[in-house]
Amino acid sequence: MYRTHTCGELRAEDIGKPVVLSGWVQRVRDLGAVTFVDLRDRYGITQLAFSKDKPELMEQAKKLGREYVVRVEGKVRERESKNPKLPTGDIEIDVDRLEVLNPSALPPFLIEDQTDGGEELRAKYRYLDIRRRPVQQNLIFRSRVTQAVRNYLTDQGFIEVETPYLIKSTPEGARDFVVPSRLHPGQFYALPQSPQTFKQLLMVGGMDKYMQIVKCFRDEDLRADRQPEFTQIDCEMSFVTRDDVLRTFEGLIAHLLHKFHGIEPRPFPRMTYDEAMARYGTDKPDIRFGMELGEITPFVKDKDFKVFAASEYTGGIAVPGGASFSRKQIDGWTEWVKRPQVGAKGLVWVKYNPDGTFKSSVDKFFGEEDFRAWAEITGARPGDLMLFLSGPKDQTRKQLGMLRLELANRMGLRKPFEFAPLWITDFPLLEWDEETGRYHAMHHPFTAPLPEDEHLLDTDPARVRANAYDLVLNGNEIGGGSIRIHRRDLQEKMFELLGFTPEEARRQFGFLMKAFEYGAPPHGGIAIGLDRLVALMGGEESIRDFIAFPKNTSGRDVMIDAPDYISEEQLRELHLKLDLPDDKNP
Ligand code: ASP
Repeated sequence: MYRTHTCGELRAEDIGKPVVLSGWVQRVRDLGAVTFVDLRDRYGITQLAFSKDKPELMEQAKKLGREYVVRVEGKVRERESKNPKLPTGDIEIDVDRLEVLNPSALPPFLIEDQTDGGEELRAKYRYLDIRRRPVQQNLIFRSRVTQAVRNYLTDQGFIEVETPYLIKSTPEGARDFVVPSRLHPGQFYALPQSPQTFKQLLMVGGMDKYMQIVKCFRDEDLRADRQPEFTQIDCEMSFVTRDDVLRTFEGLIAHLLHKFHGIEPRPFPRMTYDEAMARYGTDKPDIRFGMELGEITPFVKDKDFKVFAASEYTGGIAVPGGASFSRKQIDGWTEWVKRPQVGAKGLVWVKYNPDGTFKSSVDKFFGEEDFRAWAEITGARPGDLMLFLSGPKDQTRKQLGMLRLELANRMGLRKPFEFAPLWITDFPLLEWDEETGRYHAMHHPFTAPLPEDEHLLDTDPARVRANAYDLVLNGNEIGGGSIRIHRRDLQEKMFELLGFTPEEARRQFGFLMKAFEYGAPPHGGIAIGLDRLVALMGGEESIRDFIAFPKNTSGRDVMIDAPDYISEEQLRELHLKLDLPDDKNP
């Protein structure tokens, strides 16, 4: 027998009991008369004591190295100096027998809560990193959240159905990962960017309520904290309106926030896309703090300050307490908005001093009356700082949105354990793409237009709003979905608007349009990003902390070293020939 108890289990009540424990050696401390060994497993740490009266055993213990796997037999006894910080801190094991089950090489970094290992090193030895308590706690938390999701949805009547991974392209706006077929030379499967078409077909199949916690694959240029494979809570429902879907998933998120954080966040605010862009400069606003955008375009149109007067949009935000910013700090923010990632040309600032006077970078052009009006619009009060940007409307609002978020980050206004979920609705159905000179579906091509906008499809497609919604939490889009098209004629028209020829549409999506001919029910759904949801609920920024074996920022698994070349033999079987630039040849 390897163990009678775990290393986190024994308490004062167990004193006197004979026990067997197994685990990893965290630390060996030789105090002369006694040698202590901390034995660790997933459940905790128990102190083992080896004393001088058993000299051979003590010598054996002194030779143990970090991360050796051992098994001990002994008796629980009361500790002389107790450790109130440890749940097992009242007791120790008086060891009678010690067996090394497996020695360990010296680990490349400390297996402790605070480690000295850098990110790359820990990724390479992820299995050692996973031995650390914070990583284990994150994986355990993920498991608990996942289970709660499954239980909640199952209780609501959802049926869990697995959909295939070897499919053909589903357009979700990224590139497909493809898998060459050996049996069908020259043909490829695509890995699903999401199970979108399958879940819709399940609705045609009468499953009524579907859920799946499922891997999705998207070959995108990697942005910070994106993973090429990630997990979604994917759902679809039949005979539902938008409100039915929102109510159901508001219920799920509220249940989770209540279960894990004791919060009741309902009802979630709802905001249209247009409103979110105007007030926050983003379609995923963090509404835990103010600093909303205020537009002053009409106030500056006829003034002498050309930069503002010539701009489509001028707007700003009020930074609470910002009147005390130094000149250097403000210059720092000017530099920040000029970074290529933000792309503003400059920044106009106005200090609203605590005594009610104003001081600004545009004192030559504007006076107190102007500043008072601007303060009214941005909500600035004495003691605040107003910051303004101008330029094309959409772009400038986005820049202000970024500035707002960064200010809040640095001012500590984004508190990890404060949660503010909301819904964003009424997205545009289509987005014009300058490069290709075509429309793109903003969500995906299966999204239905709002019924009241359907008539605009022929005359003014850019103005059509989608029956789509995003779930936003603390400035992150954690989910998105829509009511779907369930009529063949409308789906055909949609593909046409997106620039598909009827042949292309039939080749790629004929199966779906065919299904719509056989009594497809009205349906809609949503997918929620599990990695991000868990990370946010765990109070952390990075999703990688909650994935057991994540890829790094260049999409590599540095532990197993993937992606990797395959053999000539494999290539031949797959009928593939590589055509690589010289410097990329294996
Ligand atoms: N398939 C969509 C996505 O992955 C979600 C949905 O529309 O249900 O974003």
